[in-house]
Amino acid sequence: MTDCIFCKIAAGEIPSDKIYEDDKVVAFRDIHPQAPVHFLVVPKEHIKSAADITPVNSDIVAHCFEVIAKLAVQKKLENGFRVINNCGENAGQTVPHIHFHVLAGKPLGETLV
Ligand code: 5GP
Ligand code: ZN
Repeated sequence: MTDCIFCKIAAGEIPSDKIYEDDKVVAFRDIHPQAPVHFLVVPKEHIKSAADITPVNSDIVAHCFEVIAKLAVQKKLENGFRVINNCGENAGQTVPHIHFHVLAGKPLGETLV
């Protein structure tokens, strides 16, 4: 998609602090970190949100979680981490390209699950 910031980051057209890349996904540090460790795992394919996952494209979600598990080992997140996906307006999704936040590095509290 031409006017999507995460498509542009995935294509390397906008710089990011990339920590992982393969043919299907990219992971990079969030520009406004909300925990000592805060990165985003983003499919390269433009899918707007979790509401647009179907049997045709759901493989990418499994792949994102494989990447998250791999990065958790690499980043030594053995004390735990939280994965968040904001979907749509009420959830506060600000970038309309599906992504998973991975937060870690401190106790994250008990609110909002
Ligand atoms: P959302 O609110 O849609 O769940 O999350 C979007 C996230 O993307 C936010 O945490 C925001 O800080 C991050 N973000 C937005 N624009 C950029 C950018 O250009 N680069 C990086 N690294 N993160 C971004
Ligand atoms: Zn996009």
